[in-house]
Formats: sequence, C-alpha cells, structure tokens
Amino acid sequence: MTQSDKVITLFGSLKTEYKTIEAMVKIYCKDHHITATLCEQCEDFLQYAHTRLDRCPYGEEKPTCRICPIHCYKADYKLLSQKIMRYAGPRMLLKHPILAIRHLIAEKRPIPEKPAAGASNRHKRKSLGQ
Ligand SMILES: [Zn+2]
Repeated sequence: MTQSDKVITLFGSLKTEYKTIEAMVKIYCKDHHITATLCEQCEDFLQYAHTRLDRCPYGEEKPTCRICPIHCYKADYKLLSQKIMRYAGPRMLLKHPILAIRHLIAEKRPIPEKPAAGASNRHKRKSLGQ
C-alpha cells in the first residue's frame, strides 16, 4: 500500500461507505489501541478498505459488505473487519446516526444479480483520466 492510494477519488455511495468505515475504525481504534491518532494497524486497514471499495466490481451498486456474495477481503483483513464492525456497529447509532441509518437502509436493498461490466470505481476513474 502506498500513501497515494488514499487520494484516489471514490464516487457517490462508495465515498459514503468509506466515511462509514472510517468512523467505525476510529471508534474501534480509540478504545483498543492507545495512540493519539489512528494507529499504524488501523491506518493500514483503512487504506486496504479504500482500495477494496475502489476495485469493487459492483461500483456504486455495491451491496453492503456483510451481505455481499463476493468475498474480496484477504483472511486477516476480514477477521479484523469483523472485530471492528462488531465493536463499532452498535456504537455508530449514537456517534454517527445518519451514517448508521443510511447503512441499515442499504442492508435492506436487494443484492444486484451480477456486477455490470466496467461498473467499478476504478474503471470509472480511469475513464475520467484520474
Ligand atoms: Zn488502532
């Protein structure tokens, strides 16, 4: 992972989803790792999540990760993500009610059958020359 990955633009709902993950990682890190800012491990996780969102074949039609049929996280990141979500999930309603409710609504949407060709954020970026 390089530092430049994070300046990559995420469009629309993917950006919102990233903000949601970022908020959850911050809640988790603050209560588990004793550092003033995000610790190295959590920073690395966020970077990883950002890249996965960029490359998700569903693009902005993406179902929430919990119900997604594509398992794109590597095992160790998946394990960490489950820990973070389990801890921060219930706390999100109090700290970030709008993001939390948006996410709960997103979980009720049907899963798209198959990602359309070229739907990923990465593909969209490239076509815009970014
Ligand atoms: Zn941390």
